Amino acid sequence: MALKKVWIEEGCTACELCVDISPDVFEMDENDDTAIVKDTADLSVNRNSIKEAAASCPVEVIQYEE
Ligand code: SF4
Repeated sequence: MALKKVWIEEGCTACELCVDISPDVFEMDENDDTAIVKDTADLSVNRNSIKEAAASCPVEVIQYEE
């Protein structure tokens, strides 16, 4: 089942780990130097990698709703 929603709260340190783990979902915003969720992110296909990225984020700012 797809996740309902994925978002990133304030506090991203731009470590790029989430982009490495789930490149179809996360990308770096070059203007802001923070990670963002791509508009095209498929929350069904990438469900597991989104959860892995959230669990791996060193500052725990990746949130999702199941
Ligand atoms: S893993 Fe967390 S801190 Fe690192 S770029 Fe992604 S959201 Fe930012």
